[in-house]
Amino acid sequence: MKMRNLNCKNCGSIMIYDVSSMTAHCRFCGTSYVLDHKDTDYYRTFYRQMIDSAAGDEGKKQRNESLWDNADSISFTTTEGQCIELKYLHSYSDKCADVYVTRRNIAFHFRSGMNGKAEHMRRMVSSLDYPSADTRTLSDFFPRVTGAFLLDDDTSLVVINKREEEYPLRLFGKLGGRHIAWIISRLENLCCVLEYNGLVHPEIDVDSVYINPNNHTACLYCNWWSVDQKNMHGLSSSANLTGLRNTAKTLLETEDVTPDTPAALLDFINSSPKIDAYEDFAYWDEMLIKAFGERKFIKMDKEDSDIYGKQDD
Ligand SMILES: [Zn+2]
Repeated sequence: MKMRNLNCKNCGSIMIYDVSSMTAHCRFCGTSYVLDHKDTDYYRTFYRQMIDSAAGDEGKKQRNESLWDNADSISFTTTEGQCIELKYLHSYSDKCADVYVTRRNIAFHFRSGMNGKAEHMRRMVSSLDYPSADTRTLSDFFPRVTGAFLLDDDTSLVVINKREEEYPLRLFGKLGGRHIAWIISRLENLCCVLEYNGLVHPEIDVDSVYINPNNHTACLYCNWWSVDQKNMHGLSSSANLTGLRNTAKTLLETEDVTPDTPAALLDFINSSPKIDAYEDFAYWDEMLIKAFGERKFIKMDKEDSDIYGKQDD
């Protein structure tokens, strides 16, 4: 089985599907629909594969290889006649661009008339600065533009880095409290970098964040065309912290208190952002200890075939 694109019946864009509510949504024209039973069965299987534990390490490499050998591909031609071919396992349309998730990159194909957005994204990404040498490693969790091309149809393609074991957070559906907790910790870290740079990312959500489920890291890779300096267009830096909370809320399996969803976790998610990201991080640290006590690493077994829903036959 293979991850497949679902195109909007209204405008033809690649839709975003929500595995937990079994609906599909078009970012481009706003159309939503509930998947029919054929699609529902398909995505249920996809979802089950995704959450099932991975098989032993022995077959993993081989399975990942064949997974990528059979990936869908798309090609683009630059104004200079160069052909760019991308193999991807996941794609969707955003308001500005069609997004293709390849093995080690994320490619944004900006729609006609959106070249200014591509420029803006590149400017924002390259403006990032880090407060000290030991925080420079945090640059691993922000986009690095590895290619930018003007295409023969006057649209543009911007490609950023991604490590192989990083996957779109959306593909994980709902998660348990402990997993949500490490994702919040990582995002608080990234929000501190945004705060230091005076930047606001108004769309921190499950489509902007990628995670590495093996080493528990999170990256803020997408929607950078919406990023701007704070106080521009009325943007307040609390929007970063609100986005962080909304992302966590989307991942929650339940809003009831359970052993895996302690009251302190829910209290944090429902709280108002603190005055800045540094104070918010301190507050989160306090709530984290209240919620789960001492830090504990819970292994999250995932491999490409689980996450992209495709396995070799
Ligand atoms: Zn549409």
